[in-house]
Amino acid sequence: MSETVKELKKALFYSKKSAYESEGEEGVAAAYEFARGYAEFIGKAKTEREAVIEGIKILEAHGFRPYTLGMSVAHGDKLYYNNRGKSLMAFVIGKEPLERGIRISAAHVDSPRLDLKQHTVFENTGFGYLKTHYYGGIRKYQWATIPLALHGVVIKADGESVNVTIGEDEGDPVFCITDLLPHLAKDQSQRTLEAAFTGEGLNILIGSRPYATEEDPYDSCSPDERVKLAILKYFNDKYSITENDLISAELAAVPAGKPRDIGLDRAMIGAYGHDDRVCAYPILMAVAELESPEKTAMCIFADKEETGSQGNTGMQSRVLADIISELSRALGADEHVVRANSLCLSADVAAGFDPNYPEVFETKNSAICGCGVVLTKFTGSRGKSSTNDASAETVGRVRRIFDEAGVVWQTAELGKVDQGGGGTVAMFIADHNIDTIDLGVPVLSMHAPFEVISKVDLYEAYRAHVAFNK
Ligand code: MN
Ligand code: MN
Repeated sequence: MSETVKELKKALFYSKKSAYESEGEEGVAAAYEFARGYAEFIGKAKTEREAVIEGIKILEAHGFRPYTLGMSVAHGDKLYYNNRGKSLMAFVIGKEPLERGIRISAAHVDSPRLDLKQHTVFENTGFGYLKTHYYGGIRKYQWATIPLALHGVVIKADGESVNVTIGEDEGDPVFCITDLLPHLAKDQSQRTLEAAFTGEGLNILIGSRPYATEEDPYDSCSPDERVKLAILKYFNDKYSITENDLISAELAAVPAGKPRDIGLDRAMIGAYGHDDRVCAYPILMAVAELESPEKTAMCIFADKEETGSQGNTGMQSRVLADIISELSRALGADEHVVRANSLCLSADVAAGFDPNYPEVFETKNSAICGCGVVLTKFTGSRGKSSTNDASAETVGRVRRIFDEAGVVWQTAELGKVDQGGGGTVAMFIADHNIDTIDLGVPVLSMHAPFEVISKVDLYEAYRAHVAFNK
């Protein structure tokens, strides 16, 4: 035994790796390049519908074609299934028999936001507003006094679908929620963060000029909803829609603007909706670039994760099972065997350790930005409630894949055990008898209108999924 303490420590202790150190100049340059494509993608894909549209563009550019249930498939086929324009599954049929299992990666493409209510336009004291119903877990105070854009779709009485995007082009107007001036905020400041803003208080300012004509000039004293009229007239002129049509609409207010590099070193990206498009983009690219793989690979853009994964576009729906069943039938495989032998990476973000708020993290089990993609054995809250707790065998299997490929990865929990919690789609995929584990990119200010990620972590996520699909 001639080992020094230093050597022995190196051999026996775990130590976190820096992606910068492991990747070197060339790898980091590749990470920045990959991040450019990502930023372009999320600049356009702010809702699940837009993510599906942009995802399909990328898939079609890589030779994918639409799949319909019942279609025959063969080795080498590159297909995608568009589920109601809100979720998406892309797959490449591998050489191996399907019964050896499918490599599945699943991210969600919905993000917290302010949905418009079905009766949304109203006027008060000369201002026109939109009533909202928030979607997902937001901290309400973060959504006041920032520029907001409107995104979504309106289905007209005759069934025609109209796309609406206002607030993203340079010349577009934007919208906002106002806040009190500090001079008059004495009472509001006494309230808790939680109570300072109410759901019903999140009304979006959308106009203030009353409608008037020469024959029918504005009488400044009459509260006759002329501002509301002007707003609906604008919608009608531009989109040929009426207030009735807004009942069959999905319109949402999201933070306006493009992703931006953060830091003098441009090492991070600030943007709306990294959760979870920072995982959706790498899983899509890792499947899109596959040519004639050994294993069948599938990536999923799921909807409704932020509200619990219910509904026919969420991961609790039958769609995944149906697709696997149909592919199995088409390829002469037993679907039960296919599912039992499949392996899934539930690709969702992790909470990055934030040195500004160390009190909520347990440092030994925290995700550090810049130290690679995060493998998370379990999520949930309190005593591991509501989680897919991946087996040690599954962790071992995935760990081997990453280590063999030289992927920089780390493992983490969300934060301190008693501090809170959260979940992902992992448990719903595991329900199908599929070994599943969470893997994602660490994020700062998760669920805020402007979230932060590290480019190298995004790149390690991509490298992890490439290795996983091999
Ligand atoms: Mn998420
Ligand atoms: Mn989330």
